[in-house]
Amino acid sequence: MEHSVERTYFIETVRADFPILNQEHHPGVPLIYLDNAASSQKPRSVIEAMDDYYRRYNANVHRGIHKLSEQATAAYEGARVKIRKFINASSKREIIFTRGTTEGINLVAQTWGRANLKPGDVVLSTVMEHHSNIVPWQILAAEKEFVIKYIPLREDGTLDMDVYTRLLNEGGVKLVTVMHVSNVLGTINPVAEIARQAHAAGALILVDGAQSTPHMPVDVQALDADFFVFSGHKMLGPTGSGVLYGKRALLEAMPPWMGGGDMIASVRLEGSTWNELPYKFEAGTPSIAEAIGLGYAIDYLAEIGMETIQAHEHTLTEYVLERLSEVPDLKVYGPDADRKGAVAAFTFAGIHPHDVAQMLDAEGIAVRAGHHCAMPLHDYLGLAASTRASFYLYNRLSEVDSLIEALYKARKAFYR
Ligand code: PMP
Repeated sequence: MEHSVERTYFIETVRADFPILNQEHHPGVPLIYLDNAASSQKPRSVIEAMDDYYRRYNANVHRGIHKLSEQATAAYEGARVKIRKFINASSKREIIFTRGTTEGINLVAQTWGRANLKPGDVVLSTVMEHHSNIVPWQILAAEKEFVIKYIPLREDGTLDMDVYTRLLNEGGVKLVTVMHVSNVLGTINPVAEIARQAHAAGALILVDGAQSTPHMPVDVQALDADFFVFSGHKMLGPTGSGVLYGKRALLEAMPPWMGGGDMIASVRLEGSTWNELPYKFEAGTPSIAEAIGLGYAIDYLAEIGMETIQAHEHTLTEYVLERLSEVPDLKVYGPDADRKGAVAAFTFAGIHPHDVAQMLDAEGIAVRAGHHCAMPLHDYLGLAASTRASFYLYNRLSEVDSLIEALYKARKAFYR
């Protein structure tokens, strides 16, 4: 098979930037890391940028007038500017640092949601969502008594857009909250079209970009997302970093969530007033090294180019689906490669997904098994769990071959 990888970028050059990849998983067995949907590995530039911050200019931001604090503030705010450009927000005031996707969604639920959702209102979501886009709404619904409805799937693992239109037409929808790319099925949802219909029905849209932002170009204005959230750790950045993007007028109108230092304009014992955006939503000392690290992760991704990364991953997706389809007794979930990110969740008839993952681990292959924080989706598919291999810019086509070989070996061991 021709490896088109080499036509996009030199994979070995990229791999050399990731120290963790160059190791043995067990003595004599090289590591094959296929758990990227859970978290990605970090290039040297990100690790060194965080190290450099702690070694040379560690200080709190926005507060001191000393040189170190000014340097830290410049780096922290510099990361915000990089993020603005990366997702094409119109202003850096629309970029709120969070600890990740989960925090971003909870922030929107507890501010916009708490202020705007009333008994009888409808929040429209999908059955494929990650728990982080279900539970915050359930918690708030228990208090505010709005209704949550879920868009079902078609047989091929894509959203049933006819039902979506119908649910919108039933009325009362204030918010559509939907993932951009599924962390299990890999389905790429038609977010721009979902947003168009939501807006026509007078609803806002929140997009969970945890699995899209690391893997494809994202333009929040082209998508016309009202809120867009993602996590740094899935896109070469550190844990504890993430972003909530929101349209400025919405963010301006929203009350703050957490109270404390930095988010205030003035504090009197009688009451307080709020800082301007984005600081209104960044209470307390933020994750400074993490934000700086995320900025460097974005530099790394942008240098290669998101279209290029997407093309590489598409090649991997096509190849892994083709090879998995050859394996007897194995079923892959989700649509075909043209409508899917580089995620392959599968089950093996008669073998528990955890046993599959354990046998792959013995071959040096790191995958995830379980419900992948999508229990409702697994219920919907009639599964307790699945095994998931997920890919990123540093994965080789030959690693797909190793995966397939290891699956045949697991099958032989179990069906013996
Ligand atoms: N949404 C999706 C689609 C995800 O894949 C994840 C991470 N598995 C999350 C949300 C939650 O992200 P985090 O744990 O970084 O907050």
